[in-house]
This record gives sequence, C-alpha cells and structure tokens, in this order.
Amino acid sequence: SMEAESGAQEEKIQVSVRLRPLSDKEIGRSEVSDWECINDCTIIFRNTLSERSMHPTAYTFDRVFQSHCTTKQVYEEAAKRVALSVVSGINSTIFAYGQTSSGKTYTMTGITEYTVADIFKYIQRHEERAFVLKFSAMEIYNEAVRDLLSSESMPLRVLDDPEKGTIVEKLTEETLRDWNHLQELLKVCEAQRKIGETLLNETSSRSHQILRLTIESSAREFLGKDNSTTLAASVNFVDLAGSERASQALSAGARLKEGCHINRSLLSLGTVIRKLSKGRNGHVPYRDSKLTRILQPSLGGNARTAIICTLSPARSHVEQSRNTLLFASCAK
Ligand code: ADP
Ligand code: MG
Repeated sequence: SMEAESGAQEEKIQVSVRLRPLSDKEIGRSEVSDWECINDCTIIFRNTLSERSMHPTAYTFDRVFQSHCTTKQVYEEAAKRVALSVVSGINSTIFAYGQTSSGKTYTMTGITEYTVADIFKYIQRHEERAFVLKFSAMEIYNEAVRDLLSSESMPLRVLDDPEKGTIVEKLTEETLRDWNHLQELLKVCEAQRKIGETLLNETSSRSHQILRLTIESSAREFLGKDNSTTLAASVNFVDLAGSERASQALSAGARLKEGCHINRSLLSLGTVIRKLSKGRNGHVPYRDSKLTRILQPSLGGNARTAIICTLSPARSHVEQSRNTLLFASCAK
C-alpha cells in the first residue's frame, strides 16, 4: 500500500543467536558445552581441551540469548518489533535457522503464539479500525509446496500475480477468531506435517515450514465507502529445514534429488540474505527457489526481516554450530 511505501527505509536484517540448554539425554552421555554468552551481543567458543581457549573465538550479533533465556525474552527482544510491523502494513519474515534439534520449532512456535496474542491485543485497543486476521500454513519439501491446512496432497502452484506479486494458488486461508482457534490450526498443521513425513518416509528436518499471518484493516468511518483504503500485510514465520542439509549437499554434491532441492531452497535463501544484508539495491535472485519466491514480497523492499539462529551447546555438535554462526555472520 502507499502508506507502507511512503515510509520506505532501508533496514538491516536483525540477526540473533539462541543457545539452548543441554538436554537430559546429552547430560546423560556426559556432553559438555564450550559456548558462553559473555554479554547481550557476544558468544564465544572456549574449548577447555585446546590451546584456542587462550584466545577464544568471539562472534557478535544484534542479540545473543544464553541457554536460560525464555522464548518470551527472545520474542520481546529479537522478533516482536519485526513481527508487529504487520499492523502498520509492513510485511515481514522471521526465520529460525539451525541444525536439527537445535531448537528451531521450539523457538518459532512460541514466537508465533506471542505474536498472535499481541495482535489480538492491538486489535482490541484500536476500535477505530476494522481488522481481519488470517492464517495460512505451507510446507516446502523437495521444491513442492503443500498446504498444511488441507488434506489435499497435490502440490500448490506458485504464480506471479500482476497486483499481488508472488502468490501460492489455492492456499487455504482461515480467518483467525481467537487464541484457541490458533491452537486448533497449529494442531492441524502438525498432523498434516506428520502425514507427509509418513508418506515420504522422511522427517521434518528436510522440509521448510511457513506459517503466515495476514492482517487487513480499514478505518471504520470509511467502511463501505469509495474512499475506504485497506491496509494489508503479512508476517511469515519460517521454520527452516535443518541447516546440516546445506553443508551435507555442499560436500556430497547433488546426488540425491531430495538433497539437491532442499538445498536449492536453503542455499538460495543464503544468497538472497547475503545480498539483502549488503543493501537492497541490485539483483537479488529470488526466483532461484520456491522458498525465496514465496517470501519475496516479505523480504525485499521495505519489508523487515529477523533471523534467529538456534545453537546446540553440545561439544559433539560444535562443527554444525560453527556453520550456523558463519551463516549468521554473513546475514549481518
Ligand atoms: P529443531 O526444530 O531445531 O529440530 P526442536 O525445537 O524440536 O529442534 O528442539 C529439540 C528439543 O529440544 C525439543 O525437545 C525441544 O523441546 C528442546 N528445546 C529446544 N530449545 C529449547 C530451549 N531453549 N529450552 C528448553 N528446551 C529446548
Ligand atoms: Mg523442528
């Protein structure tokens, strides 16, 4: 909309890192953590077994969350501002990036719930406008897009609409009534995701999930009149495939079709993020994968983006953790 564009301003991608606690299982096999958050922006690797510990490697981001931080804190300080820009008509995307078991789903589910709760609060406080909040959910597996709110198994087509930009054809959109309704829909998504996994004999670590909230609003005094303008924007919550898939295919080449495609989306996202982080001018290769095509309206232009990189503290995961921090550094 015009209102959204007139405030156009280049914004950096917000990059945060969340370290999860060691799990009971990890503690059970005597895992230790070599990671330490030394302040709100810096995480260091200090391996007590190596001489490196004299000169620990430090990584700096917009925000770093140590293992005892709550999801509420992560939401408030790393996601809220970006997610709630949707009520002012600004599109946004929040990513969870990290290896399988690092806490992506745990983090993203909480952030989605806090966002919906805050949007409902906002709607209640702004009675001068009429709001409609819509929810949709999709999964990208092997460059095929599936509707997570429908039992239809045919992949959805991604099309270019002259007005709306990229759209996912026939994607189910549910009008969100309240908090309980969100919980119901999240259960449907989870069930659909499980069915997909069973059919394909696969795990969710190979697919990308996008939950999308779209909010439309118009001033009540103009409702039904010719000069009424509707403000519409979306916020996308993206639970990415395990990042180990990216490094695996880079080393193994494109042997498997699955590996190849999953990495097409993950690798192409990496390229797009790097380009965007250097400034939003110039060619950005959104069209290289389904994930980046679908997210294009919520990534470029004056859209806001936050990336939360989740990290396992376990020593046995240290190589993947380093890869995750490299990705995070490139996005800054
Ligand atoms: P991923 O989606 O990256 O594969 P999950 O979100 O499923 O990882 O997390 C793996 C496990 O660790 C889950 O059992 C989850 O409940 C737990 N977990 C993840 N992050 C945290 C955290 N910050 N605090 C406590 N438990 C966590
Ligand atoms: Mg997960």
